[in-house]
Amino acid sequence: MNNRKLVMIPGPTPVVRSIQDQMGRETMAFGDPRFVSDFKELLADLKTMWHTTGEVFVVAGTGTMAMEMAVANTLKKGDDVLVVSHGYFGDRFIEICERKGFVVDVLASEWGSIVPVSDIEAKLKEKNYKAITVSHVDTSTGVKAPIDEIGKMMKQYEDTLFIVDGVCATAGEAEYVDEMNIDILFTGTQKAFGVSPGLAILWAGPKALARRESLGSIPEYYIDFYKWLPVMHDPSKYFATPAVNLIWALKESVRLIKEEGLETRYQRHEKVGKALQKSLEAMGFKVLADREYRASTLSNLIYPDGINDADFRSKLYEEGVMVAGGLGAYAGKMFRLGHMGNIDMHDLVSVVSAVERTMIRLGAGVEPGKGVGILSMEL
Ligand SMILES: *Cc1c(COP(=O)(O)O)cnc(C)c1O
Repeated sequence: MNNRKLVMIPGPTPVVRSIQDQMGRETMAFGDPRFVSDFKELLADLKTMWHTTGEVFVVAGTGTMAMEMAVANTLKKGDDVLVVSHGYFGDRFIEICERKGFVVDVLASEWGSIVPVSDIEAKLKEKNYKAITVSHVDTSTGVKAPIDEIGKMMKQYEDTLFIVDGVCATAGEAEYVDEMNIDILFTGTQKAFGVSPGLAILWAGPKALARRESLGSIPEYYIDFYKWLPVMHDPSKYFATPAVNLIWALKESVRLIKEEGLETRYQRHEKVGKALQKSLEAMGFKVLADREYRASTLSNLIYPDGINDADFRSKLYEEGVMVAGGLGAYAGKMFRLGHMGNIDMHDLVSVVSAVERTMIRLGAGVEPGKGVGILSMEL
């Protein structure tokens, strides 16, 4: 029998049955009072759970759209922006900002390590940046930025907005918008929320909203905060058709998160991340990210000598697990394993055991049961 394929890439992540069921429901009119009340409840939950005194937007589109939405509503042509990059997705902000005519400075780390907070602060002292952007977890490196520490430091720089890309982190790594001094946080549904791709979620704090106001009219239409705010305040209003079934699916995901407890969910991710990393290291893989800055949501694993990327990933696929390849200079040298969202013990054991079987088939000298054994001890 063919193995089912576990989707262990860094998004989309596995979508559980109860969330799938929401997508399979008969679509309602977006003005149907039952849908309006569902959407309202979802928005209220997203605000309270992520601790913002500002606004939340749920808009059809991907994480990349949210990146653009974040800067389009807070910066204008000629503004100085500092892009702090820990990899491929950090770099994506450079092009987005340059196309809009912002003046972009970049602080980039070696892949696997972080830009020290003191380096960011030194830059902020040099120039009056209107915003800085940081990816909480950069999916290309598996590096987690110390956003809490950056946020604290940023308190002294009142003119500078703190924009956090949470696409590979939100709902898996601890984030509290107000307490962490975050002005904009955003993600896409297909990562740690465990919903199919298609929705972007963006939180904007009071400082970001004041900045939007100071800009007057902006060139962008679909992603203008001001087009969506009336809908977010009253979902019976129309601006552009909401993705009804995806909104239900996200609502179910939030229900599951509340059932688990958001704090417990963060702890679970941390524990699972550490356990998987330990178990894969025991099989000869090397984790790209420095130990202190490893994400809990995904791991980027460098192959031991003699393991060919294409062989490894195709055999692993036959064993029932889909993972992603390395990006940039790490293409062909490592694989990326997502472990965020609604994954359970069965998924974890299956993944580690499938990697083990693959390594044994490739003659890598991995002792049967080694990885699974470590996983069982750790979890
Ligand atoms: C996946 C990802 C994105 C892009 O999201 P899309 O939904 O693919 O547009 C941006 N930033 C980070 C950190 C990501 O992991």
